Amino acid sequence: MKKKVDKLLREAVKTIEEASSSRELDEIRVRYLGKKGAITDLLKSLGTLPAGERPAAGQTVNLARRNVEEALVKKKGEISAAEGDRRLQEQRTDISLPGVSFEQGSRHPVNLVMEEILGIFRGMGFSVRTGPEIESDYYNFEALNIPRNHPARDMQDTFYIDDDTVLRTHTSPVQIRTMETEKPPLRIISPGKVYRVDYDVTHSPMFHQVEGFLVDERVTFGDLKGVLIEFVHQFFGQGTPVRFRPSFFPFTEPSAEVDIGCVICGGNGCRVCSDTGWLEILGSGMIHPEVFRYVGYDRERFSGFAFGMGVERVTMLRYEIDDIRLFFENDLRFLRQF
Ligand SMILES: [Zn+2]
Repeated sequence: MKKKVDKLLREAVKTIEEASSSRELDEIRVRYLGKKGAITDLLKSLGTLPAGERPAAGQTVNLARRNVEEALVKKKGEISAAEGDRRLQEQRTDISLPGVSFEQGSRHPVNLVMEEILGIFRGMGFSVRTGPEIESDYYNFEALNIPRNHPARDMQDTFYIDDDTVLRTHTSPVQIRTMETEKPPLRIISPGKVYRVDYDVTHSPMFHQVEGFLVDERVTFGDLKGVLIEFVHQFFGQGTPVRFRPSFFPFTEPSAEVDIGCVICGGNGCRVCSDTGWLEILGSGMIHPEVFRYVGYDRERFSGFAFGMGVERVTMLRYEIDDIRLFFENDLRFLRQF
């Protein structure tokens, strides 16, 4: 009996030593200590021994069982430590890897310049109003003194939605809408999208305008010049040459286009200024009395001036961009530069 037990014990301990996973170890435990295990069988067989041999045999088998149990516990500890290490290795976080970063966007150049323009006029006491982009013929043309069949309509190639509805061709309708509901004194600046049938390196079917107007008693052309020269100096730099050139708009009289000394060549003449040394940046004029008649203002008492500029145009001059289409192609290599 003792020999048999010793052999079984040696065999069991050796198998346990060689086990390499907790699953294997579990199988070994069942093989020796399970309900039908080898050592369990020995314990069961004790009853068949002669009574005198039973105590000694029982001690031997129980000792063997304890040894196997201890060997199992020891090996199990080793294996789970090794498995834990392996798991840690597999799931190891490499803190030297670059993290997941969120790309930071940047403001669109047109947006940047628009904000800058609005900021300058806010500083001169102007406040912002906006209006609809889908506009009636009345607000876009008629109330601005551009009746049907007026030749000035040809100056603005219009997207018509139906006979009486257009995509606004300028931000000037906001003048009418504001004057209809508010009384002078008014100092208003109005930014927004406008639409014209046009597409080349300097024209886009959709572009942005900033419109401004001031109405009060005794407003003169001198006030217009003062406000616009101040704007040019703040936006393009003190000392930038400014000139007012007579022009025509149906909704202002007299009208003037405003030129600045070419920011590219400094007035010496280059491709951008067509060798004139001057760049046109905005249109302006004293608000036409007919416009006041449409909104019901007293034409004897009030006078005012208005101006409008293309935001893409001044943005192109600010950043020396030579193709307006770059603003709308959403090429990140372009947009990231601002
Ligand atoms: Zn030039």
